[in-house]
Amino acid sequence: MITRSAHEMANALESGEITSEKLTQDHLDRIAAVDGEVHAFLYVDTEGALSQARAVDAARAKGEKVGPLAGVPLALKDVMVQKGVPTTAGSKILEGWRPPYDATVVTKLKSAGIVILGKTNMDEFAMGSSTENSAYGPTHNPWDLTRIPGGSGGGSSAALAAFEAPLAIGTDTGGSIRQPAAVTGTVGVKPTYGGVSRYGLIAFSSSLDQAGPCARTVLDTALLHEAIAGHDPKDATSIDAPVPQVVKAAREGDVKGMKIGVVKELNGDGYQTGVRSRFEESLELLAKAGAEIVEVSCPNFEYALAAYYLIAPSECSSNLARFDAMRYGMRVGDDNGASAEIVMNLTREVGFGREVKRRIILGTYALSSGYYDAYYGSAQKVRTLIMQDFTNAFSSADVLVSPTCPTTAFKIGEKADDPLAMYLNDIATIPVNMAGIGGMSLPCGLAPEDGLPVGFQVMSPAMQDQRMYSVGAALEAALLSQWGAPLLSQIPALAGAK
Ligand code: GLN
Repeated sequence: MITRSAHEMANALESGEITSEKLTQDHLDRIAAVDGEVHAFLYVDTEGALSQARAVDAARAKGEKVGPLAGVPLALKDVMVQKGVPTTAGSKILEGWRPPYDATVVTKLKSAGIVILGKTNMDEFAMGSSTENSAYGPTHNPWDLTRIPGGSGGGSSAALAAFEAPLAIGTDTGGSIRQPAAVTGTVGVKPTYGGVSRYGLIAFSSSLDQAGPCARTVLDTALLHEAIAGHDPKDATSIDAPVPQVVKAAREGDVKGMKIGVVKELNGDGYQTGVRSRFEESLELLAKAGAEIVEVSCPNFEYALAAYYLIAPSECSSNLARFDAMRYGMRVGDDNGASAEIVMNLTREVGFGREVKRRIILGTYALSSGYYDAYYGSAQKVRTLIMQDFTNAFSSADVLVSPTCPTTAFKIGEKADDPLAMYLNDIATIPVNMAGIGGMSLPCGLAPEDGLPVGFQVMSPAMQDQRMYSVGAALEAALLSQWGAPLLSQIPALAGAK
């Protein structure tokens, strides 16, 4: 049962083939069996999950109407606050903190009857591309335990690939949903900015942060998307408009007559050979399914990474000021009458990791008087140029596509001491965040040279999220008929999973 899709599990719950309590217990058993090696979870909420599952079973037994994913388990990225459940955002500074409230995403999951198994590992405050920046040790890629599962949401994607959960929540500021999906052979979607509430998402870079659904199939991602999306008065940037019909699009998977634009700048030198060949083959499949493939150019994307690494650290230097040793989690050095300033400094010194400090310093510098216009101001201008590139490209294509990442999963430790090499992972994902549009990554095969998953990225205009689901579902169906079985059935971690 645990290797099925969330949608199939939901059907099994509906028909009475299994109860949510049993399904949840099966996943808890799987976590107990494999998470020692994978380390996808920072906290497993055994009692909370089982009692949620029993409540859904009871509601069903009474004939109450429940949501389409009711009773299906989910893994929650540890950047989302959940009332009473330890929430660290991968940082020592929040160790032991139990939030007094639920994020809107959590409230929606609970009311949809989705069972929250626990909190997943991540790079500290979502800064990273490998989970190696977690204060609690890295997560291992279930395809090859010596490799990274991507980041920052590597725990969520690894949990999906290891069959520890069929659904997960991620957050994506520069690629943290899509890049982990790509390197683990799973599906991840960054909705249009404002499509899913940020209330209760521990902020990294507020103008870029966006929560979204992760799963093993496009339809599962769509079902979860509709469960968590929608206007929220508690988030001032939340969009007050109907949620795009992503489930309908995923069910139909229709790309006939659709124009698919290949972004010239995101598919050239620097991309691994096997990544490019799988990407090109996928384009042929989409053309066979009735889409028209065109080439588009986005000349300003070349500056996206540099601009992101000014905007994101600038916003983080402000957002992370709230960790002041007074309000949450850790407090160091207040036992001998030290001043508040000393306690704050000591706590931040001990509580934050190296990458977080690097970004706070970078952001503080970029925002300082005399440098503000040169750095932050220029970066904002680049952001406008990137938006214009997208507007132009979308005038000749309905969606845009590229490989999600330049390479497959690299080895743990390989880039840990080279921040620039690490930042380059997000070269193809960052433009989407800068423009606030939608982006999806889905698996399109294994790279012949290393046998590791390759991600295919689909980008859709703001508020047109359904388009990326149409393309994703069409490609997934075409690939499935070619492979005969889902990509994840080839994963070594499948051993022992039924
Ligand atoms: N890897 C990027 C970074 O380190 C993106 C992270 C994210 O999307 N949260 O900032």
